[in-house]
Amino acid sequence: MPNYDVIIIGAGSVGLPTSFFLAREKLKVLVIDELSSPGQGQNKSAIGGVRATHSDPAKIQICQLSLKVFSGWKEEYGDDIHFQPGGYFFPVYEEEHEKSLKELLGLQKRYGLNIDWLQAEDIVELLPGINPKGLKGGTYSPEDANISPILAARAFYRQAVKRGATFKFQEKVIGLKKEKGSGIKVKTDKGTYTTEKVVNAAGANAREVGKMMETDLPVFSDSHEAGVTEPVKPFFQPLVVDIRESPGSKNFYFYQEKEGHIIFCLTPQPIVPGLNRDSSSSFLPQAARRLIELFPRLRNIRVRRVWRGLYPMTPDGVPIVNKLKDSDGFYVAVGFCGQGFMLGPGIALNLMNLITKGKPLLPEEIFRNFSLYRDYTRSSEALK
Ligand SMILES: Cc1cc2nc3c(=O)[nH]c(=O)nc-3n(C[C@H](O)[C@H](O)[C@H](O)COP(=O)(O)OP(=O)(O)OC[C@H]3O[C@@H](n4cnc5c(N)ncnc54)[C@H](O)[C@@H]3O)c2cc1C
Repeated sequence: MPNYDVIIIGAGSVGLPTSFFLAREKLKVLVIDELSSPGQGQNKSAIGGVRATHSDPAKIQICQLSLKVFSGWKEEYGDDIHFQPGGYFFPVYEEEHEKSLKELLGLQKRYGLNIDWLQAEDIVELLPGINPKGLKGGTYSPEDANISPILAARAFYRQAVKRGATFKFQEKVIGLKKEKGSGIKVKTDKGTYTTEKVVNAAGANAREVGKMMETDLPVFSDSHEAGVTEPVKPFFQPLVVDIRESPGSKNFYFYQEKEGHIIFCLTPQPIVPGLNRDSSSSFLPQAARRLIELFPRLRNIRVRRVWRGLYPMTPDGVPIVNKLKDSDGFYVAVGFCGQGFMLGPGIALNLMNLITKGKPLLPEEIFRNFSLYRDYTRSSEALK
């Protein structure tokens, strides 16, 4: 007789909310993580942006669910996760970006997103101090938000434990074996557990854990850097995404979190494949230049620290969430690229339904976008 209904491999952006929702359904849940506490993988690398404004319908609907969970969390469960409904803002300085963002607006509105084009004069009010030279306008989605990934991880963990979930930290899963009639054996470097179902939520190690499920998961990491400044008096709310390219980088993002620190990161160009998490000497000069160019008033702010983490990438930039074909109890929720924190709770709700009722919460034809068995050569999302 298996000891657990579900074993989740990975206490990260996806595994933690999944453990919470499954425990809330009264399933017997075990979460195993090789690191020492919740959210110590890529979750703590995330800067905390959460937006429903994507161009992929499945991501839009998943992030709408996530925003609902995050926005109601404090009232429902009591934990302050630093939810700040500041919205997302994409400033536009180039004609070609004006065209592409305006084209997206139609689709985004069809999916019920509150997003619009702002004229340059309105932006100066929203972002006091933004460089007005050449500013054409931008898209603003006031219902998007920013949240502390560290506080959120803690909150999901605490509430999952309250509902009976068990966590084993500093324990690495090293093998999975189907046992005829008695479920699945999960072997770790410290012991063996049996369960009906296993969820691979192993983030950057998804492929390695996939092999234990005899499945080749196309998840390959690349690394991204971020940083945080000293706190200053809050003076702007939105998370700003500058989609212009600059030497050595593509998109540049930043926002001022609840306590006044400015958190920033950028998409390196070219991409840096691999698992290296050592900070580079090139990131801070690049990021500082971009921050000051867009927001000259920040030229004297001091940076507190920088860090580097991983995006577990799929070939088309869309995650993989599936029950494996011809398997009784293997599920995967992997390949969350640069969006695992924002997708986490929405994916977790769908996984919960998939595990307990055999189908996702979203319509199957939408959820199919996340299929492992999809065509990865279809065009990927415009806004990453
Ligand atoms: C600089 C930066 C900024 C980012 N900003 C954002 C953002 O603003 N918004 C956003 O949505 N996303 C952001 N991301 C992306 C986000 O961090 C990831 O997409 C997300 O954390 C992935 O979640 P996950 O649950 O798949 O992986 P993780 O959170 O890494 O969790 C996986 C866990 O599995 C454990 N594990 C792996 N293998 C094993 C094993 N064999 N045995 C036991 N345990 C195992 C790991 O220890 C880890 O804790 C950012 C990433 C970076 C690097």
